[in-house]
Amino acid sequence: MEKMRMRGATLPGNSTVEMKDMEIPKPGHGQVLIQTKATTICGSDIRCIYREHVGKGPEGYIPGMVAGHEPCGVIVEEGEGLRRFKKGDRVIVYHISGCGVCNDCRRGYYISCKSRFRQAYGWQRNGGMAPYILAEEKDLIALPDELTYKDGAQVACGFGTVYEAIEKIGVCGNDAVLVTGLGPVGLAALMLAKAMGANMLIGVEMNDYRIGLAKELGLVDYVFKPDEAMEGIMKVTNGNGVERSIDASASDPGRQLAIRATREWGKIAFVGEGGTCSFTPSPDIIHGQKTIYGSWVTSLWRMEELVERLVRWGIHPEDLITDEFPIEKAGEAYALMAGGNCGKVAVVFD
Ligand SMILES: [Zn+2]
Ligand SMILES: [Zn+2]
Repeated sequence: MEKMRMRGATLPGNSTVEMKDMEIPKPGHGQVLIQTKATTICGSDIRCIYREHVGKGPEGYIPGMVAGHEPCGVIVEEGEGLRRFKKGDRVIVYHISGCGVCNDCRRGYYISCKSRFRQAYGWQRNGGMAPYILAEEKDLIALPDELTYKDGAQVACGFGTVYEAIEKIGVCGNDAVLVTGLGPVGLAALMLAKAMGANMLIGVEMNDYRIGLAKELGLVDYVFKPDEAMEGIMKVTNGNGVERSIDASASDPGRQLAIRATREWGKIAFVGEGGTCSFTPSPDIIHGQKTIYGSWVTSLWRMEELVERLVRWGIHPEDLITDEFPIEKAGEAYALMAGGNCGKVAVVFD
């Protein structure tokens, strides 16, 4: 019998997308075949794979792999030995398949697994930019009925990452929250901080499209361009600065601002990847009793907690999606995301 085939998007580098014809895989022991419903594009796809293959070694993109590490879909075929999930279940794929038995994996942080068995979807194994994706049952998060597949795709990486950072610094109704960099990750940070009751939301961004989007979505009380930001933030916080800040700009000035615009005893989280940060410890953090947290992706259990809370809060990550493409137009989707005049970009499937 002839095997069923499909076409998936691969990223050869040099800002190109190549469609690849392949067999639809059969799930083995402990695996499921998922019919992909939505896969969103991450900043890391652009920075580390699409423009050029940046990562080397075990964390590098393997040329020819189907891209897409933010997939969400429905199980259409069960492998043997499944313990929890079944055909028909709507699922998010945690985008790293960890070895499952190292200390990091046992904490749920597959992202931090250093085993040679670690594989990221869309990097070292086929990801979600294809009509079907082969996944390990242990990597799945159940998608509640109240959330859409597009909501789920965003949880798989971006919202999970932001939620982790926010839980580390803690955000509540006492807090003015500053977010530097209003790309999809920064907008997600504002959306979650708002749901947690932050009493003032401040954004800093230079791209006019993204400033407009943050306003349109009702995610900012104040938004400043970088050169006017410090003065503006001090003005709206009575000269004290914010209680919490999150850097999603990944830029040196954005990070410096996040540190200096945070008041005494405040907490700062860095989630934007790459680049450097220069600051002067004594005046910038030590004398102000401030804490800076680094935060990388999230754990399986926190992702489960996040989907539960999204339902309780009644918010939808898909609201950040500004542009959708079919898989045949994946090239346009990546090009738009690379240009930056967009919110979140999604590839959606029938
Ligand atoms: Zn990502
Ligand atoms: Zn591991």
